[in-house]
Amino acid sequence: MISHLDLRQVNEPYLTALQEATARVLASGWYVLGRELEAFENQFAAYCGTKYGIGVGNGLDAINLILRAFAFPAGSEVIIPANTYIATILPITDLGLVPVWAEPDPRTYTLDAEKLEPLITEKTRAIAVVHLYGRCCDMAPIRALAEQYNLRLLEDAAQAHGAAYGGRKAGNWSDAAAFSFYPTKNLGALGDAGAVVTNDDALAQRIRLLRNYGSEQKYIHQIPGVNSRLDEVQAAMLMVKLPHLDADNRRRQDLAARYLREIRHPAVILPPADRIYDDVWHQFVVRHPNREAFMAYLAQQGVGTAIHYPVAPHRQDAYTDYRRLCLPVTEQLHREVLSLPLNTALTDAEADYIIQTINQAP
Ligand SMILES: *Cc1c(COP(=O)(O)O)cnc(C)c1O
Repeated sequence: MISHLDLRQVNEPYLTALQEATARVLASGWYVLGRELEAFENQFAAYCGTKYGIGVGNGLDAINLILRAFAFPAGSEVIIPANTYIATILPITDLGLVPVWAEPDPRTYTLDAEKLEPLITEKTRAIAVVHLYGRCCDMAPIRALAEQYNLRLLEDAAQAHGAAYGGRKAGNWSDAAAFSFYPTKNLGALGDAGAVVTNDDALAQRIRLLRNYGSEQKYIHQIPGVNSRLDEVQAAMLMVKLPHLDADNRRRQDLAARYLREIRHPAVILPPADRIYDDVWHQFVVRHPNREAFMAYLAQQGVGTAIHYPVAPHRQDAYTDYRRLCLPVTEQLHREVLSLPLNTALTDAEADYIIQTINQAP
């Protein structure tokens, strides 16, 4: 059985180095807000090409802290893609802001700039873009729109470590970008972890305060903050894996290139092939009009798949207020998408088998 993702296999090459990193932190006697985090923050910012990196507890908190730092009045509207993971939306509603749901481009699954302008009202304060599945949104027209209407831009880059568009990396397209290092992400910790990257001095300073109880100096609190810190053990482990991120992404790109070249089945809709080596292929998402039967066939042949995501956020019980929204593109995508195995542990022989199995599907 080829599993969709086996984290034990993914982390296997790093086992000894991860054990050494953990042992180093253990022996140091210093576990939160120390040297490991500072070093990782600098390395990750350098990797992204941004001025600042701020480690936080997870990707959800990274989005939450950016929005807090924007300090919008309650009731302000934030435009989001309707087909995202719910973590993009939860911080918006949590802070008393209003999510405005934009339909994605059905070809790329990311925001379509042309569908954004009609959603802008006098209450709109920001656009939160999501580089879904590892593909950067078409950012030039979105940035132009944000400038024209004086809106803040936030990137949810939780699936896009190292992704680029037009020579510019994810994390550099907005006021501030949120990354997650959840274990399944392209750069995965061995627990929860996240980061904000930004080139904005004031935002960086504010988010640094916010993540640590609004405090810079112990027991002195400048603003009301939260506790959301990336701990020393996770930072040390992330530093083991960061130097390999580009090679890992390259392996994903080569596998994606093969899938795009060799999968040929009339019912299977492939993702666009126009940016194979800019996209970091966090997921390789195809569509099938009869998804459940297709997934059952693949499972029967020993190929594990996953769905990202089975239920659209506006159709979740958590968001009954939005259940009546009419978002046909989003709803169709949620009915038809499935993710094939694509990760650094997948072998060429396994990729061969997956391609063959799909091409022979009934
Ligand atoms: C994983 C993810 C998040 C949340 O990250 P966590 O670290 O799990 O909190 C946010 N947005 C997207 C698009 C994600 O994939």
